[in-house]
Amino acid sequence: MEDKDKEIRSEQENTESKAEADNKPEDDGYEKVCYICRRSESKAGPMVFMPGGIYLCHDCMQKAFDSLSQNGMDLSRLPNMPYLNLGDMQNLVRPEPIPSRQKIRKKNKEPKKTFTIQDIPAPHKIKQQLDEYVVGQEKAKKAVSVAVYNHYKRAFLSGGQDEDGVVIEKSNILMIGPTGSGKTYLVKTLAKLLDVPLAIADATSLTEAGYIGDDIESVVSKLLAAAGNDVERAEKGIIFIDEIDKIAKKQQTNTRDVSGESVQQELLKLLEGSTVEVPVGAGQKNAMTPMATVNTDNILFICGGAFPDLEEIIKERLRKKSSMGFGAALKDEFDEEKDLLSQVTNDDLRKFGMIPEFLGRLPITVTLERLNKELMKKILLEPKNAILKQYEKLLAYDEVKLEFDDQALDWIAEEALKKDTGARALRAILEDFMLDIMYEVPKDPNIGAVIITRPYLEKTGGPRIEMRG
Ligand code: ADP
Repeated sequence: MEDKDKEIRSEQENTESKAEADNKPEDDGYEKVCYICRRSESKAGPMVFMPGGIYLCHDCMQKAFDSLSQNGMDLSRLPNMPYLNLGDMQNLVRPEPIPSRQKIRKKNKEPKKTFTIQDIPAPHKIKQQLDEYVVGQEKAKKAVSVAVYNHYKRAFLSGGQDEDGVVIEKSNILMIGPTGSGKTYLVKTLAKLLDVPLAIADATSLTEAGYIGDDIESVVSKLLAAAGNDVERAEKGIIFIDEIDKIAKKQQTNTRDVSGESVQQELLKLLEGSTVEVPVGAGQKNAMTPMATVNTDNILFICGGAFPDLEEIIKERLRKKSSMGFGAALKDEFDEEKDLLSQVTNDDLRKFGMIPEFLGRLPITVTLERLNKELMKKILLEPKNAILKQYEKLLAYDEVKLEFDDQALDWIAEEALKKDTGARALRAILEDFMLDIMYEVPKDPNIGAVIITRPYLEKTGGPRIEMRG
């Protein structure tokens, strides 16, 4: 009986889909236009074909369903459907007739070639390229270069296994470093120079499935979007999950930890490699969104965080170790140690609240150091797209030379250090006083050069101005 039911149903479905296919006009290469909001495919995303020869975008489709469930069937309440408002027939202004087709759909650009094993640059080459953008952080750059090189070599072996049966494990990375020390910047630069898609997600917005917040799969969905919905490209991309320290296990809690430990648990599967169904094009799933299957096996996951208080945990461990036996350590012995973070162990991280299974899937730990004054000055001057170079270029268009004397650079670096947000503070500080310079200088065409001095920044003097000729 049940079988028969099923048969009838599947027959019905078959005839329905056949009828739909019969009605659906052949694709003529033009963009389709939503019948309600008039947006074209390139703006509104994929369209749903409706009986009667019209197309609807997902947003309007969703709104139609929402209005049905809330208000009953009153289509006049839908935005952009004034001509359905039959109570107002006299004043009816018919909108422009809907163009059934808009411009020719953009020809897909040359499909980006997926890179091959020969395209992966050797670690020293990766590091050399990183050096052009990221200042300092030598150890981190080296470790990341090797990890990425190995990751992509593994990606070209089927199932991470070579012909001798040796299984190469995934080398996801845990990146620990203070705010503004360049974690995100390092990953962004890496993705750009390898020409792989990158998705940056924030761990604080993730929650266990079913709770308010983003599902874990949303990070893969972002990557797919970054790869232009090309599944094959996305499967070799990088996902950077920032603020990973915020999903540490909550200490002493009697409520369900839906944004901490549970998120770590749910991330496990993604990190080690699994297949997930994610919506294509739209950020959210709904009945109409087409889905794609993405395998995360060859996606490189980098989890980054500032891990405040981790230094305290490390110090405590080091103190305990050295307080045994002779020469017991003084309480503040490790307070002055600069690079404490680099001595981190998995035990410290576990104490911080990361679960062992999670740490197990991030076998490579990379630490970044807190930026000091020298590094801040270098960041201002040296990277290929350094902020000062950008200002110099802007003024060069007015044929004005911009210079900073060394004491002025010292002042900027010192101010940035006070803010404790790493290199992120530099731009804000510069913008503060560069606004006046950029406003005043073009007023006088005789100005040939502006030299920013420390007294000017301290507001006890002005910049040095040199006239042309
Ligand atoms: P976080 O470690 O908090 O992720 P970011 O990578 O976002 O910090 O850094 C903020 C900005 O500071 C970057 O966009 C970049 O311009 C600059 N920056 C930080 N660290 C460095 C660095 N080591 N070299 C060059 N620029 C840096």
